[in-house]
Amino acid sequence: MCYNKPCRCSCDMTLVKANEKYIGEYSPGTFAYGSADGYKTLWMKLPDNSICVIPIEPTGTDKQNWEWDGNLNKPTLKPAIVHWTVINGKQHEAWHGEIKEGRMESV
Ligand SMILES: [Zn+2]
Repeated sequence: MCYNKPCRCSCDMTLVKANEKYIGEYSPGTFAYGSADGYKTLWMKLPDNSICVIPIEPTGTDKQNWEWDGNLNKPTLKPAIVHWTVINGKQHEAWHGEIKEGRMESV
């Protein structure tokens, strides 16, 4: 478990068949595909142990701001992800990094 805020860890990604309810029980780097509100989504357990849900399809909608390269096992997303957390009522950067060729790379 990483308690650094912000977390500067990086890790390889592992695809699992999980849903949002269960992905939280996996290690950082674990990811799964699912759907929410009519979108195909990428669910990820980030290096800081937070869960991030990114809509990847359909493209060109208000909500779909990330470009996915279509690689199921080693996905690349653009742009980078900045995940925030709230501690004592103040927003803090929890993890900032790139999803690149199946790796979560801190930047
Ligand atoms: Zn960390």
